[in-house]
Amino acid sequence: MSRVVIANGRVIDPLSKLDGVADVAMVDGRIAQVGRDLDRTGAEVFDAAGLIVAPGFIDMHVHLREPGFEHAETIESGARAAAAGGFTSICPMPNTSPVNDNATVTSYIVERASRLACVNVFPIGAITKGSLGEELAAIGSMKQAGIVAISDDGKPVMNARVMRRAMEYAAGFGLPVINHCEDLHLSAGGDMHEGQVSTRLGLRGIPSASEDVMVARDLLLAELTGARYHVAHISARHSVAMVRFARHRGLPVTCEATPHHFALHDCEMKPYDSNYKMKPPLRHSSDAEAVAQGLADGTVGAIATDHAPHPGSEKMQEFEKCPFGILGLETALGLALEHLVHPGRITVGKLVELFTTGPAGILSLNRGTLAEGAPGDVTIFSLDREWTYDVNKSFSKSRNSPFHGHPFRGGPVATIVKGEFVWRI
Ligand SMILES: [Zn+2]
Repeated sequence: MSRVVIANGRVIDPLSKLDGVADVAMVDGRIAQVGRDLDRTGAEVFDAAGLIVAPGFIDMHVHLREPGFEHAETIESGARAAAAGGFTSICPMPNTSPVNDNATVTSYIVERASRLACVNVFPIGAITKGSLGEELAAIGSMKQAGIVAISDDGKPVMNARVMRRAMEYAAGFGLPVINHCEDLHLSAGGDMHEGQVSTRLGLRGIPSASEDVMVARDLLLAELTGARYHVAHISARHSVAMVRFARHRGLPVTCEATPHHFALHDCEMKPYDSNYKMKPPLRHSSDAEAVAQGLADGTVGAIATDHAPHPGSEKMQEFEKCPFGILGLETALGLALEHLVHPGRITVGKLVELFTTGPAGILSLNRGTLAEGAPGDVTIFSLDREWTYDVNKSFSKSRNSPFHGHPFRGGPVATIVKGEFVWRI
């Protein structure tokens, strides 16, 4: 029998409405008890005095690049980066090679993860075959193999009729449909947010409208079909307002935001530095403000990183030629503390929700709580530890982050999966 006691931390478990100093005991990989002065006989004891002890964080949007692009990331390396960021569960998007659009690929990911990943991996399957936007993928058999949602992330589903069918079909399986909202005709050729900064830099713009029109379309289709619908990496203020409106009307509609979309805006880009190039792009400061407001008022239900590793050889090209996307797993918590908690925009309890019960609820994962009998997944973090992010020490195989050298106050301290420490500082 293996026994671990996390002692004297401030335990925050939103689902149990718990916020106070306590011990957390785990036995054989599950939460056994939460309370004061628990029996420590024969246990591995971790002193968490002065630290926050929360249910394991869940990142519902990552790219692990395996199969097909193992030079950028593998399931194993991405999982290690996740653990170092305080995440105990991650959901890889299907834009691998081959695309995760059938049960064989899903099973390959699940099997590799069970052997090599130090955190839980819940794959997301494609909406359409090859994510080409035309024919529906093998959604039912992928669900049996372990997917928790469908998405063609990296690409939108441009054809509204296909999207409608996907929603109807997914509703039958109880799966949420996640769309990367981007009208490709409006965004074509764009490298950054369309606005004053793109004009000044002479770079082609991606207007907020390319996101907004697709969010609007999808919300109407969600109402038509009754499907559970989720907007990936929401970035534009009108999109946030439309999701808020749909939720007020009772539709089962959710969205997530990445740390970079509330932490940065287009004025803060280092000109022509590809570590600031991502989709959706860093938008106007009023958009970043709307995203933060959405997180605070419950419109945005989860913080997700969109961790998108690219090797240096690809990110070191001219700005226009570089692929979109940045690393995110190891800096997410630090950025959320800096931009949301420290300025008083949200409480620490709310932050924990956005990393736990929020994504768990959207994906119907039976996780995100420290209730007795729950999986022994725990994230221990500090509100005030000072540290500096060194991307060259990242567990990721890639180095594309705009936050290299950034000083943080507060961040992950230890990560426990199934009752075992998988990372600690
Ligand atoms: Zn995307």
